[in-house]
Amino acid sequence: MKDNEPFGGLAIDFSGDTGNALANAAPIAIAPDAPSTATGGPTTVASGEGRVDTKLLIVGSGPAGLTAAIYAARANLEPVVLAGSAPGGQLMLTSDVENYPGFPDGIQGPDLMAAMRAQAERFGSRLIDVDIDRVDLSERPFRVWARGTEYRAQSLIVATGASALWLGLESETRLRGRGVSACATCDGYFFRDREIAVIGGGDTAFEEATYLTRFATKVHLLHRRDTFRASKIMIDRAADHPKIEIHPNVAVDEVLGDTKVEGLSLRDTATGAMSKMAVDGVFIAIGYVPNTAAFRDWLEVDAKGYLVVRDETGSNIEGVFIAGDVHDHRYRQAVTAAGDGCKAAIDAERWLEAQGITEAATATAW
Ligand code: NAP
Repeated sequence: MKDNEPFGGLAIDFSGDTGNALANAAPIAIAPDAPSTATGGPTTVASGEGRVDTKLLIVGSGPAGLTAAIYAARANLEPVVLAGSAPGGQLMLTSDVENYPGFPDGIQGPDLMAAMRAQAERFGSRLIDVDIDRVDLSERPFRVWARGTEYRAQSLIVATGASALWLGLESETRLRGRGVSACATCDGYFFRDREIAVIGGGDTAFEEATYLTRFATKVHLLHRRDTFRASKIMIDRAADHPKIEIHPNVAVDEVLGDTKVEGLSLRDTATGAMSKMAVDGVFIAIGYVPNTAAFRDWLEVDAKGYLVVRDETGSNIEGVFIAGDVHDHRYRQAVTAAGDGCKAAIDAERWLEAQGITEAATATAW
């Protein structure tokens, strides 16, 4: 598992019989040295060896990128989506999603993403499962290179998301979605009347620990040092909470359990003493990294490294729009990312229209 890669490094096998609508919608495959890669959409122009021209390029295929693709495709922009080598975003790492509207019985994260992808493709979006290598936003058309192909775009939506940081343990990866989570809002509900642990010493860890007391009988907050990065008010709130027990100077060496989390193997970072703790779940809350590497030379980032938006979805470069967790460290929800993708597509369409690059979509196209 490559922790900091876009989309968490997890690949979907779209070719298999998944039983979902996507099974028949194979992504465009690009051989490493293929001369030209645009093999589909009605008016996407492959205008040279290894070059694809498009009115709108979307980078990222989580809820923000795919919602942008659905809206842009329905506005006849024929967007090209560079979906990443492991498409689908953070929901690919989640099992049950019970807070996305429209699914009263919940939906599996990968199934939700497959449905969004199929919906984007149904209206003519072109999805290509490659990671981008570099970008040049110095002039229009903007240029993006991915696996030997140059994409030239009149407008761009950056929806590359953010990745949760993980401890990097093999057992943590193996039990992800089976009691290991990085999202209390997403998965807390599944730990009703259970005993759980939260790892980390920053605001996220304290916030998640406090949130999880709604469900759990007991929350152990484990931090590798005896001082915390979290704000005093968050620490005090947790320290006063009858369900939270704070354990300083504790590192997790292993998550225990074969098919589900059964406990943690712990090391006292002061004395080196080893111990075990029985828990049913563990939330890793050691921070997030926005996936901005390719854009950092061009787009403004804030003190935390997230892209800065101007006027809802705009950026410091005209014609470049931003959507989803790559700028949002506050809400970080699939539904807010999807809403962002919708806004970015509408803004891109209106901007292209203002440039005379595309005719206005009719109001009903949205
Ligand atoms: P953070 O402040 O960077 O804290 C990360 C914590 O995880 C640190 O305590 C760090 O330990 C620990 N950690 C990092 N890598 C680790 C590893 N490999 N093993 C064990 N522990 C590890 O991240 P954050 O808590 O996500 O907060 C990020 C930003 O968002 C902060 O500015 C925060 O204030 C803000 N935020 C605000 C709110 C709020 O105001 N409601 C809520 C959440 C986040 P060390 O201390 O030893 O390095």
